[in-house]
Amino acid sequence: MRGAAGKISDVGRPDMAGMQRGACPALAAPMQTGDGLLVRLRPAGGALTLSQFRELASAAARHGNGILEITARGNLQIRGLRPETVGLLAADIDAAGIILPDGVAIEISPLHGVDADEITDAAEMEATLRSTLGALLNHPHLAPKLSVLIDGGGRFALSAVIADIRIVAQQPGQWLLAVAGDEETAMPLALGGPEVVVAAASELLRMLATRGRQTRARNIDAATLHTHFPQTDSIRSIRRAPKKSSYVGVTKLATGNAVLGLRLKFGQTRAADLISFLASAGSGGAREIRLAPDRGFFLIGLSEAAMPTVQQAAVDLGFSIRANEPAEQIAACAGAGACASAFYNTRTLAGQLMDRVPDLFDGSLKLHLSGCAKGCAHRHADLAIVGSPDGYGFVLDGLAADSPAARIAGEGIDFAIEKLARLIEDQRGAGESSADCLKRLGATALAEALQQE
Ligand code: SF4
Repeated sequence: MRGAAGKISDVGRPDMAGMQRGACPALAAPMQTGDGLLVRLRPAGGALTLSQFRELASAAARHGNGILEITARGNLQIRGLRPETVGLLAADIDAAGIILPDGVAIEISPLHGVDADEITDAAEMEATLRSTLGALLNHPHLAPKLSVLIDGGGRFALSAVIADIRIVAQQPGQWLLAVAGDEETAMPLALGGPEVVVAAASELLRMLATRGRQTRARNIDAATLHTHFPQTDSIRSIRRAPKKSSYVGVTKLATGNAVLGLRLKFGQTRAADLISFLASAGSGGAREIRLAPDRGFFLIGLSEAAMPTVQQAAVDLGFSIRANEPAEQIAACAGAGACASAFYNTRTLAGQLMDRVPDLFDGSLKLHLSGCAKGCAHRHADLAIVGSPDGYGFVLDGLAADSPAARIAGEGIDFAIEKLARLIEDQRGAGESSADCLKRLGATALAEALQQE
């Protein structure tokens, strides 16, 4: 914390203040969105018991508009809250025994402590960081979106997740600390036992806090990092490249137990559907969930005999249970019916596109369906279809707020879908992906195709 002289004081005493209940800044400062207030929550360890998840879903229905989301980073979002209901939600979260650590978000391997292939338990490293660096992790001058990631290895590594500070298990008792990037792009700064990486994390957090709330790790230049971490050139990751596989579906762990990974279609579910699904999962023996990056969660404890029934319940209630479903390629915001700012129903359009332009969903393209130009669901996408008072804007390779390549009046969307399907079918070269095809054609060809009579 800042001392009287404005310098950052010594690292705080071991304390689990960061694990206290009811102290989450997200609940203290909800975000205003088109459908009311939104809170983003990360329960301790990304873990909830089944009954805690059910209580949370019930609270979302009582105090918000009943829509829950899991973000690309595996955080929970509750939408449609009002100023007078945020406190009631916080009280219900507290009553359910859900712990929301405060300070910098720390994301850890979703199957920590469950996956026998994990090199080291990421939750233990999180506890070490929080108890040793509690004051720094809560420093008011750190960027609000600063992220720390702890990857203990195992079946579902966090290699693709970008973070300001990455702490990745290399072998038992040895960790690598790297900054600003994913597993391939982050710059390694320290390698060694827990005390080495905690000291490096402490140094980095001090540097970031000194620079203020606008500074992310990527803003610190390499020369400065070299000065503070002179050993950086000699450090290399020694971890074997993790297998890249989707978490969605049934995975048999080395313990012999199976876990079921599910994805929320378009990252969203309605509280009533989630509650029904959790009842089915509970009957099948599930006892806990673990939030996962890329908008989903794992069910822990399901019996193998119950797996088919629970999978069918998931499908019936709108969850994805197979990897590479077309819906995975679509980021859709709450849309009309859930958000007052939306100019169209994003989920309906998603269904139409999956039915009528199947060639688009070959795994290459990220499609963003945004009810308005705010673009809550996604940032940069290969193709965004954005609602406006005049209809729909088609943005190629950009943000929802960017100037669209083509505008289609509201009643023209059916024809536009047909024309998009024909464009991809006619123009895609042999072996070319839909994303590459759209990129090659560019904004002008897209606009001409969509606006043809
Ligand atoms: S992007 Fe979607 S959820 Fe966000 S404000 Fe616009 S319509 Fe609402």
